[in-house]
Amino acid sequence: MLHSLTSRIVFVGSIVSVNLICLSGLLLSASNSMIASFEWNSHKQKITEIVSETLSDLREAQAEERGYLLTTDPSFAKDFDDRVASALSKVNILEQLVQDNPVQHERAQSLQIATNERIDTLTKQIALARQGRFDEARSRVVIGQGRVDMAIIVQKADEIRQTEQELLIAREATARAHVNWNRKLVIGGCLIIVLLVNGLLFIVLNGMRRSISLIVHAMSDFGNGNRTVRVNEQMGCTEFDMLAQGYNTMADRLDAAMQAQEASDLKLHKANTELKRNNEAMELLGEMAHRLQAARTSEELAAIICAFVPRVLPGIPGALYTHNHTTNQLERIAQWGNASVGCDSLLPSDCWALRLGQSHSVSTPGGDVTCQHVACDVSTYHCEPLFASGEVVGLLYLQSTVEEENRFRLVALVENIASALVNQNLQKDLRDQTIHDPLTGLFNRRYMEESLKAEIATATRDDTALGLIMADIDHFKHINDEFGHDAGDMVLRTIACEIQNSFRSHDIVCRFGGEEFLIITTSHPLETLIQRTESLRSSLSKLELHYNGQSLGKTTMSFGIAMWDKALHHTASDIIRQADAALYQAKKDGRNRIVVA
Ligand code: GH3
Ligand code: MG
Ligand code: MG
Repeated sequence: MLHSLTSRIVFVGSIVSVNLICLSGLLLSASNSMIASFEWNSHKQKITEIVSETLSDLREAQAEERGYLLTTDPSFAKDFDDRVASALSKVNILEQLVQDNPVQHERAQSLQIATNERIDTLTKQIALARQGRFDEARSRVVIGQGRVDMAIIVQKADEIRQTEQELLIAREATARAHVNWNRKLVIGGCLIIVLLVNGLLFIVLNGMRRSISLIVHAMSDFGNGNRTVRVNEQMGCTEFDMLAQGYNTMADRLDAAMQAQEASDLKLHKANTELKRNNEAMELLGEMAHRLQAARTSEELAAIICAFVPRVLPGIPGALYTHNHTTNQLERIAQWGNASVGCDSLLPSDCWALRLGQSHSVSTPGGDVTCQHVACDVSTYHCEPLFASGEVVGLLYLQSTVEEENRFRLVALVENIASALVNQNLQKDLRDQTIHDPLTGLFNRRYMEESLKAEIATATRDDTALGLIMADIDHFKHINDEFGHDAGDMVLRTIACEIQNSFRSHDIVCRFGGEEFLIITTSHPLETLIQRTESLRSSLSKLELHYNGQSLGKTTMSFGIAMWDKALHHTASDIIRQADAALYQAKKDGRNRIVVA
């Protein structure tokens, strides 16, 4: 009912007004009562006065009559008639005044009768005196009836006055009690008004204080960061309900604005972090690329990959495979982070990434086909094929899927590694071209000369065995002449391969020139060397060669062997010359044989 603040204030005002009206009524009633009491008192006093005046008039009339009778001087009774008239008039007034009190009225009537009788007596006596019959008049006075009548009148008058006096005293006591009661009522009324007003004000102000306190606390909490705080919109007062609604709307909007701001800050922060991470990755990749360019061997390349890839893609184990064009296999050259890799090499068909020509990943176990080269205990992985000019140069295997945020790094990494592998292959090809014979793939003469110098130094220093075998195909010109140069080339390649396979990998087999070959062997005693050469010679002599479906017949070779002797030889040319001399001797002795220098 009293929902609004205004209506509450009006209500309090109304209560105060009603109370003030009641209090005013009370005061009015008290003042009326006092006025009535005052009027009543003056009425009683008037009665007493009239009684006294009546008595006084009677006494004076009596005194004037006596003076006249004694002196016979009429001047003594000059006011007699006035006094008598006055006494009669006052006793009549008295009879009127006490009509409200039957007892007093009866007394007044009795006093009136006695007064009338006394006046009648006095009037008769004064009439006698005025007629000059003083003695007759005096004889009536002497009887003393007048004194008795007067005494009765005084007694009646005293009774009336006494009664009035008593009534006055009683009325005064009642009036005083009434006044006291009224005073208490006024004081009590004032106290009740004060208490009532205070009580109402307390209720209203307490309601306001509670509502304001709730809103202020909510605002304070909001300011301290608790953005979920809202105020109950049913506060019991229209103005505060509106204030609460206003606050809640403002808080909602502010919260939404702050959320939007936070989201945008978060986005910016994420973008900055990503940018920073990408910059770091780019720096790392730059450093890696710089080192990869300087790498000379695949071992160095592997070391660089192992050092940098775990930093570019932290926490992801993996391996790098390079494509060997000769074997058409992908050979593992590096692995990091305890990657579970079973085989050292794999066929392009073993990997879905290489088969599809695009990255292939399995993000959930059984979610996609698994490459054959992936170990059984690996459930999620990522394969990235490395291409250069449309050709496969390698494969990057990662034993985990790559998150979206790391995609940028992966792309840059793949580009870097692919170009490093291409570079490495180019370098290798260049190096191979420099040290290998293009037709047979064996080392060339220049490489042999450099290597021989180094081996001579080692053999001289360590006093180990060092042997040289000079080999020449017998009547090779005949093959060229009869079957063509290409057939000759094919024979050269076949024989080169046979020689290479007859010696250990660290023995140096080179094409010395034309159809001549030179083999540098270390740590073999001469006997072993002769045995191995003999075995080669024998197998070559049995070799049946064909070219374009045409038999080329049997081919033999002659061999000259020389062992390094630091007492005899001083330079590489010395021992080469000696081996060559032995070969010449083998030719001379009929070919297809071995001559030891
Ligand atoms: P001999 O038994 O005395 O060594 O006789 P030969 O015919 O093998 O020796 P000769 O020196 O007379 O001939 C060598 C031939 O080898 C001459 C040359 O045409 C041929 N030749 C040299 N280099 C190559 C090559 O790269 N390819 C081919 N097809 N032939 C070559
Ligand atoms: Mg020759
Ligand atoms: Mg020859």
